[in-house]
Amino acid sequence: MFRRPFVRPMRRAMMADVPPLLRRANELMAAGNYAAAAEAYEQLARGAQMRGNPRDAQLLLQAGRCRILAGQVPVGMANLKQGLTIIAGRGNYQNLQNAGQRAIAELTQRGLTAEAAEIESLLKGVIPASFAAGPVAGPAKPRLLPTSCPGCGGPIRSDEVEWVDEATAECPFCGGAVRAE
Ligand SMILES: [Zn+2]
Repeated sequence: MFRRPFVRPMRRAMMADVPPLLRRANELMAAGNYAAAAEAYEQLARGAQMRGNPRDAQLLLQAGRCRILAGQVPVGMANLKQGLTIIAGRGNYQNLQNAGQRAIAELTQRGLTAEAAEIESLLKGVIPASFAAGPVAGPAKPRLLPTSCPGCGGPIRSDEVEWVDEATAECPFCGGAVRAE
């Protein structure tokens, strides 16, 4: 009987199929159309959740950020908390710490100090005391990533990506490969 040789499955990252709605959401965000962008990210997050796609959390955080930029603070806070709670449930405390601190900084910058404190206490409640935030995992020699994903146009931050190898990171929105310059 002919047996197929074992082929390592190609990382999904390399062949990400970018949903048009994601590209649209990123365009709306970049254009400053925050309320419409938030709606699109929320829809994408719901879809990701239904498919068990772990990018749901990042999409919720992005939706929350847009709602807050659009002045819709309570909805934005609900999105942020949901996204952070999902990350906490997955036990990814480094990612939680990074995402939470970024939300706190952005809320504080907008004068939303009560909301920033709310996120701070959420983090305190879920991050175990034994966890010490370490340096962000990444390549030994930090490489400069493009500011947006070539696949979906999503904003790329080196502390929010997973590195596939020394020169390639995975887009947190579409899973596409983002190569360091
Ligand atoms: Zn992308």
